[in-house]
Amino acid sequence: MGIVKTQGLVIKEINVGEADKIITLFTRHKGKLQASARGARRPKSNLIAGTQFLCYSDFVLYKGKNMYRVSQSEVIESFFNIRSSIERLSYATYFVEIASEVIAEGYQNDKVLKLLLNTLHMLSNTSKEHLLLKIVYEFRLMSIIGYAPNLVGCTNCGHESEGMYFNSNVGGLVCKKCLKNMKNRNNIALSDGALQAMRYILYSEQNKIFSFQVSNKILNELDSIAQDFILTHIGKEFKTLKYLNNILDLHKTGKS
Ligand SMILES: [Zn+2]
Repeated sequence: MGIVKTQGLVIKEINVGEADKIITLFTRHKGKLQASARGARRPKSNLIAGTQFLCYSDFVLYKGKNMYRVSQSEVIESFFNIRSSIERLSYATYFVEIASEVIAEGYQNDKVLKLLLNTLHMLSNTSKEHLLLKIVYEFRLMSIIGYAPNLVGCTNCGHESEGMYFNSNVGGLVCKKCLKNMKNRNNIALSDGALQAMRYILYSEQNKIFSFQVSNKILNELDSIAQDFILTHIGKEFKTLKYLNNILDLHKTGKS
């Protein structure tokens, strides 16, 4: 019989009927898949905890005709603190949406799952700035799926001038000299701090990617670049990102 034992993160849940739901899992061994969780919404169901949105759980799945069916689930990590703040939850929902967008059904990518789990862990269990987590997550994700920007030198001549620019269309840096000849005008001026931070994010080892600190000014600069880069290469505006930005705006207005 088709039994699959794997760990997976619940990235979507849809209620079906009285007590069932269909969940989308980002699994370690089978990539992204859908599974029905019968009776999972009943208070006494042993599937109730492990099949909730954002839970990383151990699963036993049966392969049915059309879809997997969840037979057992046990929570490994619930990222509990994310649920206690609408801002954190909005960030997490965006992280999940963008990963889900770039990972096709059944396609297995351990690196994306690991990055997503690490980022959710930082969001849930540390006080690291959320915007910093978002920027690191976005750049590393783009890099894993094959869109690593070239930050070594100018993408055109290879040199580095004082004051570099970033161009999402050419996928990296542009120097002052080459800027004049570029037909594409979407060049964003980079501060030295932003360039150093981007290099750190993209060229450091996986377990060190969040271990740096920059000013809010640089974070905002990097945020604009990351958003421009993602829009250029994925070509889609994310609903959850719009929602997140609304929540952040509300926060700002509330504080002033
Ligand atoms: Zn150049």
